[in-house]
Amino acid sequence: MDELYSLLDSVKKTAEAAGETASNAAYLAGKKSGEILDAAKLNFKIAGLKNDVKSALLEIGGMIYQTHSGGEDNQEILLEKLREIDVLKAEIAELEIRTGRAEKIDTCPACGAELKSDHAYCGHCGAKL
Ligand SMILES: [Zn+2]
Repeated sequence: MDELYSLLDSVKKTAEAAGETASNAAYLAGKKSGEILDAAKLNFKIAGLKNDVKSALLEIGGMIYQTHSGGEDNQEILLEKLREIDVLKAEIAELEIRTGRAEKIDTCPACGAELKSDHAYCGHCGAKL
C-alpha cells in the first residue's frame, strides 16, 4: 500500500508541472493553426483524440491497480501518460474552439460558479445574470 500512496503523491505533484505542459500544447496548436481543415475533418480528429484520452485513462487505471496489488513500479510511465493526457486535452479544446462547438463559459458575479452563457439565472445560487 505504501507504493500506492507515494505514487498518488507524485501524481499530485505533476499538477504543478501541468501549466508548463499546457503552454507547450498551446505552442503546438499555434503551429498547427496554419492547417486548413474542414468541419468534418476537425470532428474526426477530435473524436480520435478523445479516444486517445480514453485509452490513456484505461492504461493509467491498470497501472494504479498494478501498484496497489504489489506489481512492478510504473511511476515514470504513469506520470508520462498523465502529461500526455494534458497535451491531448489542450489539443481537443483548441480544435473544439476552431469548430465553434466550444460553449462559452461565464462566471457568476455572485457566487463565482462557472456557467454556460445562455442561462439567465445562476444554477448554483439563483442570481440573475
Ligand atoms: Zn451564482
